Amino acid sequence: GSVPLDDIPVWTPAAGGSEPNRYPRNEELDQKISLYSGDITKLEIDAIVNAANNSLLGGGGVDGAIHRAAGPLLKKECASLHGCETGEAKITCGYGLPAKYVIHTVGPIAQGGVGETERKALRSCYKNSMETATENAARSVAFPCISTGIYGYPPEQAVHEALATVREFLDAHHDKLDRVIFCVFLPTDKELYLQNLPLYFPAA
Ligand code: ADP
Repeated sequence: GSVPLDDIPVWTPAAGGSEPNRYPRNEELDQKISLYSGDITKLEIDAIVNAANNSLLGGGGVDGAIHRAAGPLLKKECASLHGCETGEAKITCGYGLPAKYVIHTVGPIAQGGVGETERKALRSCYKNSMETATENAARSVAFPCISTGIYGYPPEQAVHEALATVREFLDAHHDKLDRVIFCVFLPTDKELYLQNLPLYFPAA
């Protein structure tokens, strides 16, 4: 079955971590973040983000899972979009998914290592996805760990770009999104987010 937004708990920051916070507390954000461990295709929310490729015609990993769950109409709409540049985002309907929309973004390929280009592109994915969501009045958005699978971006670096970009977007536009869900699939990613969430969304 699908997982309604109301069943996804809000992440509560624990006070007193060992590392210094990278951002001050912003109480307005306290009810807006979730860490969800599981399959993004099950989430009954406004928009899920797909870690797609430039063709937008489907691939492996989370992209394959989303296309399988959404059904063939998703590919049909994607084919009408004429691809997507790295770092950009395009929106479609969710079709057979419980989510209303899919926001397709294309992460950087980082198999040759991470430089400023890759880092900026990864940040753009998060930022442009949230902008696309708000332009379409989507108020709940779930992200997979973009680029950290087949595209080879080191997850322990990607987590900081993900968290910083979401924090910065919500600081600027906290009235535009009700919830941002970090949807992790691997236990190692769950650990990375648990470790690093308090640095970006601190309790105090
Ligand atoms: P990329 O090509 O951008 O690296 P991948 O799909 O290979 O994208 O991997 C991105 C992340 O998505 C990885 O952390 C992978 O474990 C995760 N993932 C795979 N399937 C799912 C799913 N059904 N729901 C959520 N995350 C998933």
